[in-house]
Amino acid sequence: MEWFTDRQWMKKKINSDGYYNMKYCENLNLFLDFAYSNETAVDRRVTKHGRIVYEIKCPCFKCQNVFYSSREKVHKHLLKNGFMDNYTTWHAHGETSIHEVGQSSNTMEVDADADDDYDNGYRRMVQQMKDKIVRLEEEKEIERLEKEKERAEKLAMMEQIEENTVTNAQMKHQIEFLLKNIPKNSSAS
Ligand SMILES: [Zn+2]
Repeated sequence: MEWFTDRQWMKKKINSDGYYNMKYCENLNLFLDFAYSNETAVDRRVTKHGRIVYEIKCPCFKCQNVFYSSREKVHKHLLKNGFMDNYTTWHAHGETSIHEVGQSSNTMEVDADADDDYDNGYRRMVQQMKDKIVRLEEEKEIERLEKEKERAEKLAMMEQIEENTVTNAQMKHQIEFLLKNIPKNSSAS
């Protein structure tokens, strides 16, 4: 949940070594999942060729949440341009801020039902997010275990090769030893 609660990563696109920050790339996908999980944030459009496309507002530095784009395009923009400044509450992507929840408590007595709906909606959204994160983490764990297995197999193979090399070297040594000794023996006889 760290990517969701601590949004410093949004400003750390590039590492000090000039390469992409892996955290940024990972969290970027989580952000897009988040945006696409919120119906209110997704715009369904039919192209002139009759194809249905689902678009969200692009929060990149250039588009500034003004233009809608496909997931691939937004992804590309956010890698290239980074996020627009001060976009810490993802209001254009379905997020209702904690600040707003606080404010709405003032009107609770006046419109309790609306607030309940709001609370339920918010809670449901958080639950959905949590479920999704658990799923993602499970997938990652499986991937990690598979990689570990692969690594162990490679290591075992390397060890075998190394063992063989050692045996070969020893054998070579023995053969050389024998070859050196045989002529001496034969000339002596
Ligand atoms: Zn953009």
